[in-house]
Amino acid sequence: MFFRQLFDRQTCTYTYLLADAEAGEAVLIDPVLELVDRDLQLLRELGFQLVASIETHVHADHVTGAWTLKQATGCDIVYPRRGGVPADRLVDAGDTIAFGRFALEVRPTPGHTDGCTTYVIDGMAFTGDTLMVRGCGRTDFQQGSPEALFASAWEHILSLPDETLLYPGHDYKGRTVTTVAEEKLHNPRLGGGRSVQEFKAIMDGLGLAQPARIHVALPGNRRLGKPVEWTLPARNDRGAPQRSTGWVRDNLDGVRVVDVRQPEEFDGPLGHIRGASLVPLATLHQVASEWSRGDRIVTVCRRGGRSDQAALGLESMGFTHVASMTGGMESWSS
Ligand code: FE
Repeated sequence: MFFRQLFDRQTCTYTYLLADAEAGEAVLIDPVLELVDRDLQLLRELGFQLVASIETHVHADHVTGAWTLKQATGCDIVYPRRGGVPADRLVDAGDTIAFGRFALEVRPTPGHTDGCTTYVIDGMAFTGDTLMVRGCGRTDFQQGSPEALFASAWEHILSLPDETLLYPGHDYKGRTVTTVAEEKLHNPRLGGGRSVQEFKAIMDGLGLAQPARIHVALPGNRRLGKPVEWTLPARNDRGAPQRSTGWVRDNLDGVRVVDVRQPEEFDGPLGHIRGASLVPLATLHQVASEWSRGDRIVTVCRRGGRSDQAALGLESMGFTHVASMTGGMESWSS
């Protein structure tokens, strides 16, 4: 079986390409929207037909490339049934996903999210965020549950033969793969004889911040990665691209709202838009340098002056889908 591990530096996400090279059929596990061109080029170069784009779960940190891959290749979009997403194919315990002579076995492994699933094939398991190298996914949102994660990891992953290679959904320290034997012994949360009570205490005490892009990623993934319709915005007399408050309301789930006011205004009487991130204008250039240039971004301030500057600044940094909300928070709340 052909196997390739691919990496997204922005979110430390692994995407896996598996193929029957002889039959020319391939699947991708957890493709990332911003890296679809990389994946399509690789498929073309290797002469593989993509038959399925498969998710381990509904991700909170990045948007899937599934929809874009389907437009380009006609592949099926496959999600775990319990993810609650309207995909082409919803898989559950005991199902298989075939490509050429091979097939992935579907093992629901809830806990990080209630829809998390591990895919097993040929001495390898793709564990998503259920079990990671010396770690595991957080359990504090998306119907996560430490008890469920502990049970499903032991029952459906660590019960595999000791030498089984475990490929995680992410790694933040540069590690790429582990084995069942290693994690049973050395996983500091789940392994080394820890009890479910100890595990729950660890997970409940993590106190992690929300993922930076959760307000874009969750709705984006529920749309299978289909981007928000982005017609060319009109420009005002300052040359800044504009979106009306109505447009922003209608598309709130598909854009990153960047509020460029000061913290005291953000928390002041005009309030702020649900899910908006606070990035005062003076810090925008530095903060935005980390963002993906294709993100749909709407900038917001009190009346529209600073958000116009912000939108123009982002365009000059290479952002391609930016607009300023016309009239600012004074128009939003009136
Ligand atoms: Fe996750």
